[in-house]
Amino acid sequence: MNQPNQHELPSYLNPDDLGPWGIYLEQVERVAPYLGKLGKWVETLKRPKRILTVDVPVELDNGTIAHFEGYRVQHNMARGPGKGGVRYHQSVTLSEVMALSAWMSVKCAAVNVPFGGAKGGIRINPRNYSQNELERVTRRYITEISMIIGPDKDIPAPDVNTNAQVMAWMLDTYAMTTGHLATGVVTGKPISLGGSLGRVEATGRGVFTVGVEAARDAGIDLEGARVVVQGCGNVGGIAAKLFQEAGAKVIAMQDHTGSIYNENGIDVATLLSSYNQKEGITSTNAGDALSNEEFWALECDILIPAALENQITQKNADSIRAKIIIEGANGPTTPEADDILSSKGITVIPDVIANAGGVTVSYFEWVQNFSSYFWEEDLINERLGRMMREAYQSTAAVAKQHNVTLRTAAFISACTRILEARELRGLYP
Ligand code: NAD
Repeated sequence: MNQPNQHELPSYLNPDDLGPWGIYLEQVERVAPYLGKLGKWVETLKRPKRILTVDVPVELDNGTIAHFEGYRVQHNMARGPGKGGVRYHQSVTLSEVMALSAWMSVKCAAVNVPFGGAKGGIRINPRNYSQNELERVTRRYITEISMIIGPDKDIPAPDVNTNAQVMAWMLDTYAMTTGHLATGVVTGKPISLGGSLGRVEATGRGVFTVGVEAARDAGIDLEGARVVVQGCGNVGGIAAKLFQEAGAKVIAMQDHTGSIYNENGIDVATLLSSYNQKEGITSTNAGDALSNEEFWALECDILIPAALENQITQKNADSIRAKIIIEGANGPTTPEADDILSSKGITVIPDVIANAGGVTVSYFEWVQNFSSYFWEEDLINERLGRMMREAYQSTAAVAKQHNVTLRTAAFISACTRILEARELRGLYP
């Protein structure tokens, strides 16, 4: 009998250019030696459970018809329904959505929320379309994927270029399709439609919480600590503000328009109150201009990449002079850069732990939707803080036990949980 080739790549992948999925596969390779008997299931992690590619035809305001490509990938649902955002971006690819869905599986397991991993995306530049056109795109996309989503199947959420309004359209479309209102079908909704208090700030708050833990472990006093942040959005902006409130000096920030530097510390609250995404950070007078190379090479205690993937690479990793890196963004560091940072003794708190605050409060939102009973913000923040601290501390303990990086440790804990569930459930039929 022929033995299947365990390492054969699925046919939908281009072996010459695996994109972000290739990075994820390499991370799984690094964890495989630590999985013991569960290693026999590791191939499950290297293949998404389900991939749906859909055509999204939409009538534009000028009467013409445009077609967009949409995806929903469910990576692994052994531990619970799929969970993951939907990204609207012109450069979204299937490889990217696959990797993001897999990182959601790992993230949910790493912080021990009872979800599997999923992610969605549409190849569209939303800046080129009106609100009405985006509403039609959203409604058609959700209709196309409605058979595989639901509060106990797969629960979308906001990601890059999607927000609470987009979630409201998704919720309504799902309700029209199924004939009943199930608020738990999406998270990150407006509060008036069953959204949770604290969700908007949750990811930045989680970044700050693990940062406090890591700074303490590294002997860094937050009072006066030098912090550098890439991204002034939901994650970077909130994290920067919380670090400043705790006494740290945010000496530099970067957005899509460039970087600014202020030796005395940027006044983050004032900056954010007048921050305009279109004009960007360089149009403010909060600091002096800085080149991209200078930004990454700044001497600091804490560096927070909170914008995009692939920001810390072989090219700039060696110039980094931070003590701790907290990954607010998903996938900001390549595996080669990881090795360089590790050899320089820089601690990296991986995305799957550092930015898990968002999915943790999404989990709280989903629980509140099922019981139709809403929690107060203080309680949400207290529970979020507890779960983030536990995730960081248990990951740090695994890292110490195996003498590995925090990323490998997070993958060891998460993949063990996922594969234990896989093994207990068994294969059907
Ligand atoms: P956002 O759209 O609110 O902000 C993104 C920021 O990145 C903006 O300030 C933008 O100017 C900046 N940026 C864009 N392109 C850049 C470039 N080329 N160079 C430097 N800066 C650039 O997005 P967000 O919600 O803050 O998400 C940021 C990252 O965090 C993404 O990787 C996202 O997947 C991840 N993340 C977000 C959440 C969440 O709850 N929002 C949760 C987990 C992970």
